[in-house]
Amino acid sequence: MRQDDCIFCKIIAGEIPSQAIYEDEEFKVILDVAPATKGHALILPKNHYANLYELPEEKATDVMKLAKKMMKVMTDKLHCDGFNLVQNNGEAAGQTVFHFHMHLVPRYKNDGEILKYIAQNPSQKELEEIKKAITE
Ligand code: 5GP
Ligand code: ZN
Repeated sequence: MRQDDCIFCKIIAGEIPSQAIYEDEEFKVILDVAPATKGHALILPKNHYANLYELPEEKATDVMKLAKKMMKVMTDKLHCDGFNLVQNNGEAAGQTVFHFHMHLVPRYKNDGEILKYIAQNPSQKELEEIKKAITE
C-alpha cells in the first residue's frame, strides 16, 4: 500500500535517502531532516495512511508501543532529559506530509525549543457546552 507522490513512501522504498535508526516489518524510524532538537525522529508505518483517522486501530497500538521502545533507547543513548511525542493530523493541525508519522522529540534542559500552545481561558459555561457537544 503506497502512494506514488508521497515522500515518505519513497523514503520507505529507499528511493529517497534517509537516516534510519530502526526498521521492522511494519515500521521505519528515520531522523527528521529539519530537527527540532538533536535526535528528532519520525515513526513511519510502511503502509501509506494519510493520518491517524486512517490508521487501523491495531497499528495505532503498535505505534505507541514502538514510541515507548524508541524513547527508552534514545534516552539511554542521547542522554536527553525529557521527551515529546507529537502527532499532527490535517493541515489545520500543522501536518505538512500526509503520510501518518509520529514525531519523537528528545528534550534537553535549556534546549530552547518551544513546542507550546497558546492557552485559552474559557468560562465554566463554555467548558460545559464543549463537554456536552462531545459526549451527548
Ligand atoms: P508534519 O509537519 O507533517 O507533522 O511533519 C513533517 C516532518 O517531516 C517535518 O518535521 C519535516 O522536517 C520532515 N520531513 C519532510 N521531508 C522530509 C524528508 O525528505 N526526509 C526526512 N527525513 N524528513 C522530512
Ligand atoms: Zn506515503
